[in-house]
Amino acid sequence: MTTAFITHPDTLLHIMDGNHPESPARITAIKNYLIKQDVYNHLAIYESPVATDAQLAKVHSTDYIARIRALSPKAGLVRLDPDTAMGPMSLSATLHASGAAILATDLVMQGKAANAFCCTRPPGHHAGRANSAGFCIFNHVAVGVAHALTQYKVKRVAIIDFDVHHGDGTEDIFKYNPQVMLCSTFQHPFYPHRGFDSRTKTMINVPLAANADGKKYQQAFSHEFLPALNQFKPEIIYVSAGFDAHVDDPLAGMNLIDQDYIWMTEFIKQVAKQHAQGRIVSLLEGGYHLPALAKAASAHITSLMLA
Ligand SMILES: [Zn+2]
Repeated sequence: MTTAFITHPDTLLHIMDGNHPESPARITAIKNYLIKQDVYNHLAIYESPVATDAQLAKVHSTDYIARIRALSPKAGLVRLDPDTAMGPMSLSATLHASGAAILATDLVMQGKAANAFCCTRPPGHHAGRANSAGFCIFNHVAVGVAHALTQYKVKRVAIIDFDVHHGDGTEDIFKYNPQVMLCSTFQHPFYPHRGFDSRTKTMINVPLAANADGKKYQQAFSHEFLPALNQFKPEIIYVSAGFDAHVDDPLAGMNLIDQDYIWMTEFIKQVAKQHAQGRIVSLLEGGYHLPALAKAASAHITSLMLA
């Protein structure tokens, strides 16, 4: 079985402003590096559908979905919050990014792919039930998780979020849902300044001081995540795969290197193999240094392929 790589042309057409670090070049950098490394040819490439309003409404309020649709501009930029804006193609991009999570879930749950990587943008993990935040409009990982819970009657889903920023939108959506465990490492104190004091039995928030390296992350994964995951026994694992904890990333202050993304992926594969029949759906979140993003994402994807 293969690793699915899901993307869509419109993911390149969401543009916040000329110099914004959350740019289409991120997607192109990953794809070009995969081609250069002769990895791309060995992936099963899919174009994502749009997520339907019914699929989005499992995690977002219908008022919020209607508001985003109404705000979508014909030209120019509409600001949703201090960090997030929509241009004419942003709605389509974010709907296809959520749709990628749906398709990835279908492929993995139906045994048509061993695992899947959604190479789409804008990212999603800061988007809450009724709000955009931090470059995110809809919460794609949450949309995928809700699809697994409702469509496939999965009982327990784990999300591992190794983006340098806390997945606060994901936490908001699932904090009272005992069927969903979130394991999140993040720089603290740092944007979004949340999650550091809200750990519960299913919200395994592990704040890490700036300059944490692979060793610190290994401790968090093996001492905090692993016991929780082994007790929870997820039936499928989602990954909020942000690559902005990389040492080269200009937006954050952590010290991960390319190889760290290999052992993190191996860790996730091991847990998935033990509890979840190997099922992994991974989604691109952050990562803003283009060469580092390309190499770290490629390390993650290559590791997924060796399932
Ligand atoms: Zn981030």
